[in-house]
Formats: sequence, C-alpha cells, structure tokens
Amino acid sequence: MSSLGHQLQGTLSAVGRAVSVLKNSTQLGKDGGEQHTITPDATDMGSGEDDDKQEVFQSHVINMDTSTKTKVDLVLDWVRTNLLLTLTIGGVLVGVVIGFLGRLATFSDESIMLISFPGEILMRLLKMFILPLIISSLVAGMAQLDAQSSGRMGSIALLYYIVTTILAAIVGIFMVLVIHPGDPSIKTHVEGGSTDTKVSTLDAILDIIRNLFPDNLMQACFQQVQTSYKKVNKPLVFHEPNSSDDSPGFILKPQLVYKDGTNVMGMIVFCLAFGLLAGQMGTKARLMVDFFVVLNDIVMKLVGVVMWYSPFGILCLIAGKIMSIENLAATAQQLGLYMITVILGLLVHALITLPSIYYMFTRKNPAVFFQGMLQAWVTALGTASSAATLPITFRCLEENNKIDSRVTRFVVAVGATVNMDGTALYEAVAAIFIAQMNGIPLGIGEVITVSLTATLASVGAASIPSAALITMLLVLSALGLPTSDISLLFAVDWLLDRLRTSINVLGDAYGAGIVYHLTKDDLARMDADRVLDTVDSGLVANVKTSETADSIVSRPTPAGSSETQI
Ligand code: ASP
Repeated sequence: MSSLGHQLQGTLSAVGRAVSVLKNSTQLGKDGGEQHTITPDATDMGSGEDDDKQEVFQSHVINMDTSTKTKVDLVLDWVRTNLLLTLTIGGVLVGVVIGFLGRLATFSDESIMLISFPGEILMRLLKMFILPLIISSLVAGMAQLDAQSSGRMGSIALLYYIVTTILAAIVGIFMVLVIHPGDPSIKTHVEGGSTDTKVSTLDAILDIIRNLFPDNLMQACFQQVQTSYKKVNKPLVFHEPNSSDDSPGFILKPQLVYKDGTNVMGMIVFCLAFGLLAGQMGTKARLMVDFFVVLNDIVMKLVGVVMWYSPFGILCLIAGKIMSIENLAATAQQLGLYMITVILGLLVHALITLPSIYYMFTRKNPAVFFQGMLQAWVTALGTASSAATLPITFRCLEENNKIDSRVTRFVVAVGATVNMDGTALYEAVAAIFIAQMNGIPLGIGEVITVSLTATLASVGAASIPSAALITMLLVLSALGLPTSDISLLFAVDWLLDRLRTSINVLGDAYGAGIVYHLTKDDLARMDADRVLDTVDSGLVANVKTSETADSIVSRPTPAGSSETQI
C-alpha cells in the first residue's frame, strides 16, 4: 500500500515537474519573444538551464516509455543510440583480451608491429587534425568574443587550471606518503638505464616563456626551443705552481636547442591574439574570420568520420601494447604498489575532487556530464595523448554536453596543453616514490617543492604519450634525486600514461563546463546585442534603401558583434 502511495506520489511529482517545465517554456517564449519548444533541437539553443528542464522532462518521457519495454530492449536502445561509444568501449575490452591472449602466443616484433599498425594510423590521423583544429578553433572562437568576455573567461579558466592542478599534486603526495610504495629493494631488482642530466627549474620556467613567443611561426609548427647543457672543455688557466685542481676537465654550458614537437603554446598565443584582433576589426576582417570558421567546420566534419575508425584503432593500439610488454608479471610484482598508489590518486581526483568542484559551481550532476564525455575519456585511454584526443573532446563537449563552442575552443584548446591534473598527480607520486626507493626522507619543505615543481612540470609537459617522464627530470633535479631512476618507471608507463591522460582530458572538460556556466550570461548578452545590432541595421537599411540606395555607407564594426552600420 505504502509502495503504491510512493509510486503515486512519484508520478504526481513527475507530472507536476513536466507541467512546470511546459509552463516555463511558455513563459520563456513570452519573455524572450522566442518560443522554446521541447524538441531535441531546442537544446542546441545553448541555454544550460533550459537544458536541465528539458532533461527532467525527457527523462520522464523515457520513464513512461520504458514501462512497456523489456530490459533487453532497453539495453538495445541504449546501444543503438550510443553505438560509437559502445564500439569504442568494446574496442578497449577486446583489445585487452586479444593483447593477453597474444602474449601466450609470443608473437615476433614484426607481427606485433603489424597488429599495432591500424592503431598507429589512428594516432597519425588524430595528430594530423591538431594544428588545423587549434588554429581554426581559436581564431574563430576569439573573433566572436569581445575583449571583456574573453578576459573574464581567461581568468576563470586560469584560476581553475591552477587550483585543480595543485589539488591533484596534493592528492598524489598524500597517497604516496600514506601508502609508502617505495622500497629500496626494488632498485636492486629493476635495471636502471640513462645517465644523469642537468635540469634547472629556472631553465624550465624560461623555456616555457620562450615557447610562448616563438620567433618563427612555421618552425613552431614542428619544433620547440629547449635549454640543454653541453659539455665543453675548460678554458686553459694557469695555476700557482703548488696548487692542485681536482675539478673535471669540462664544464656544462647552457645552450638553446630546437627539439622536435609542435610548439602548441606558441601557436595558441599567436592565434588568441590574432583572433581577438580580427574580431575587433569588424567587417574588414570578416573574410579572414569566415575562412577560419569554415576551416573549423570542415576539420570537425573530418573528425566525425575518423571517430568511426577509432574503436578499431584503439583495439589495435591496446592489443599491440600489451603484447609488447616484457616481464609483465615481474614488473607488476615490483612496481605493483606504486601503480596502485597512482591509480588510487587518479580515482580520488576523478571521482571526488573534479566532480565536487563542478557541482559546487554549476549545481548540475557531474555523472551526467561525465557520461557525455565518455567517448573522449575512452579515446584518451586508447591514445595516451590529450592532444590526439582533442578533436573528440571538442565534439563530446559541444554535442553531448551542449557547451558553447566559444568556451570549448578557448578552455579546452589551452587546457589540453597546460592543464594536466593527472600528470601533476603522477609526477608528485613518482618523485616521492623515487625518494623512498633511495631511502631519502623528505621534509615539509621538500614536499612543498614537489607540489610546486610537479605542477610546473605538468604545465611544461607536451600532450603526447609519456611526456611526463621527460618533465619528471625537473621535479627530481629540484629535489636532488637521481634522475637516472626515471628509467625504472618506463616499464609501467604504458598503463599509467593512459590513465593519467584520461584524467587530464576530464579535467579540461569539467573546466569547460564550469567556465561555460559562469560566463553563459555574458555570452547570451553578446548574442542578444548581436541580434539587436543585426535587426537595427536591417531596419535602418530598409528605410534608407527605400529613400535612396546611394546613401548607404558601410563602416567597419567588430565581426560577430555587429554587422553593417549606416
Ligand atoms: N600523455 C599525457 C597527455 O598527453 C602527458 C603525460 O602525462 O605524459 O596528456
């Protein structure tokens, strides 16, 4: 009886909510002079609060439908509507199974290369889109923002990047100190490799700033600058007859070298400035802006096609990777606790820190948001590169989570390069793990150094596979730990890299959700201004046209904010 009462109450409240949604939609129609009908297309109009109401309404519509459907039908329905996602998740699972089965067959290196080959092609395709996508989306996005909105958006995004990255590093430090996975015996079991390299924090900071301002844009498309130390013979000095000089016969001299890898930060800075100025120049720059808008649309369409290839590519990438790992059991035994520490830290960040921050600002369900990002999350697991995942991240945010493209273009393009929560967490854990393995106790000062340098190292890390292992040098050098110990971590990076990359992507996505929520009024105001300007200019133009067509003069106005003025 009471359950019947509950059901009745539930149904009544559902109907009540649906009616209130309908009322609200009518109200909105009256207030805004624009009728919001509840169709799937309506969500495209970009109002987040309306989306919530529609979600409530739609979920009740679905509930009413489901009563007549069996569970199998429901699952099939879900698979049908999320076919690509299902295929991608299936790709990961089948890849893992094939990978482990393949290990039993002990394939030759050539066979493993052939198995991974379709995956390699996927990586190449995704990487191919990075530059055109970043350039076109930033220029097109910035041109549609005024200086005030882009400034506000930029400051919120920057604050979010800093806070979440430091929080991630703190979670990592907490985990590694509590679990204490480092044991000096591990070093005797695992072989070391590379020699020590000199890295300084100052150089790292200066390199980041140097790369922000590339001296050659063409070169920035494929190279970035880095300080490197070269051994040079000491200049000849004459000593006192009895003095002795025990220092080595060479000194380390810093020099700037160009290393392979796109200088994404430099391209971003240029495109931000270019887009903003193009927007300010109005009709004069309209052709240029339209070019980038169309380029962006075309690249996104291409991404849409490649997405259907990604399940197979990811399957091959994962299967090939698992087959190529040597001494899987021994490595797991030695570095198991370390892996568990990293994974637990990443889980805390993904399941507690990020969703709480998202909920705190938006009061929306983070699980629903995550569901919209699943495709990008799985792609990050498969590719281990947030840059390669970028095209899919854009699509998930804009199409599933209905985030305004002006926000995604800015927050995600920049975030994929500088905001790497998973990487910061990983670097903090790895540095302290190496200290523990060497039996070096760390005081509070060193722990703070770890959190700051890990954050800095994550900003400097490229969004490509295993980039963290390179910037780890910075954290280890700051602590005076042996940098050659990084080679101990190579054995498990194939897995940890994928996991931290997927958290990097999630961090960017939640950031876009928050920035969108906090700036959507600005965006709506800009849209309204634009519509008013267009209507105004249209009306005046009509009046003038009827008087005398010759009196119409065009004056340059901001592109995307107002059209032709009279
Ligand atoms: N693979 C990571 C990324 O692309 C970077 C890293 O942590 O190595 O986001």
